[in-house]
Amino acid sequence: MSSLKTASVKALSAELAALRPRMDAVSLSIHTHPELKFAEFHAQQVLTRWLAEAGFTVTAPAGGLDTAFVAVHEGGRPGPRVAVLAEYDALPGVGHGCGHNLIAAGGAAAAIAVVRALPAHPGTVTVIGTPGEEMGGAGKVRLADARVFDRVDAALMFHPGDRWLSGRPGLAAAHLRIAFTGLGAHASVSPWQGRSALAAAQLFLNALDSMRQFVPPSARLHGIVVDGGQAPNVVPARAAVDLYVRDRTAASAAALVERVRAAAAGAALATQTQAEVSETGPLYAERRNNAVLAERFAETVRALGADIGPYDPAGPAGSSDIGNLSQLMPVIHPYVQIADVGTPAHSEAMREAAATPLAHDRTQVAATGLAEVVAALLTVPEVLAAARAEFEGAAG
Ligand SMILES: [Zn+2]
Ligand SMILES: [Zn+2]
Repeated sequence: MSSLKTASVKALSAELAALRPRMDAVSLSIHTHPELKFAEFHAQQVLTRWLAEAGFTVTAPAGGLDTAFVAVHEGGRPGPRVAVLAEYDALPGVGHGCGHNLIAAGGAAAAIAVVRALPAHPGTVTVIGTPGEEMGGAGKVRLADARVFDRVDAALMFHPGDRWLSGRPGLAAAHLRIAFTGLGAHASVSPWQGRSALAAAQLFLNALDSMRQFVPPSARLHGIVVDGGQAPNVVPARAAVDLYVRDRTAASAAALVERVRAAAAGAALATQTQAEVSETGPLYAERRNNAVLAERFAETVRALGADIGPYDPAGPAGSSDIGNLSQLMPVIHPYVQIADVGTPAHSEAMREAAATPLAHDRTQVAATGLAEVVAALLTVPEVLAAARAEFEGAAG
């Protein structure tokens, strides 16, 4: 084993207990000021202020995104570069129904605990503020494109949920807008002079329903009408549908996108309108969980009392821009139970759960698990080597 000293779970637990009041204050401050994707200025401010006070060198904005940040702590010796990711965007209407306030405050607390326990650590501990995860924002994809992750050896975060899990699959997802253009006319005096873009949108959505039985069972096609016309007495000249197309792999999702394009073209042909399909954000790639690091996280939180379940490759899945990062480096994205089993994500119930003392107790446990993985990656070369070997094996 390594001659470098690593931090014990006991030492990290003690640091996190000491950080708890600030962690709660930061989390609740973000929770009560929900901000949508790429407008998370309050969250950026409370997080970067805390990290700067804790001795991190803060760059904000970062990677071309106004509400991103990079906070680095150099231990003074060469070594691995480990990143803890902080998400902090909220949802329209439901606020912090995804509990990102806990990801952000718990992630920052984990990183600060490591540098307090190991002030002269090798390498760097970095907290990367990754805005715009929800609504196809793809903040992490944009930061990766801006080379923010170029020198990162592993990226770690956890996510609140209705159960403890060391990991969960994530689907690849394409984010599309299908815009139809027709011809406006008086809806009663001379409707035959018009061509309804709304009729095209209806036919398109029906076409998707007709396709549903003939796509892989793992696929998800779901959307909303974002523009259905302006007034009942005007034949709608414009209509638009926002659609997500998801499946187990980016290749399968891309193949489904081609079928969606054909359905849009067919609906346009039938209604004498035009269809234009565009991407509202980058494709989210499927998620690869690094089992070496996820199991290490699970061991720590299990020892602290969490009833954490194993990775279930067949479990229910959403999508996240963490998928794209997981194609670039070893990544973990375990789940922390903050609400009763069955509480849906993106709900008002989950939003309320994300502000409770229980949620913060659990976040403290998760932050300890995260801090232990960071400390091990920095100080035990075998851990990073094993994580890399798994990543490269899975990539090949
Ligand atoms: Zn989330
Ligand atoms: Zn979410």
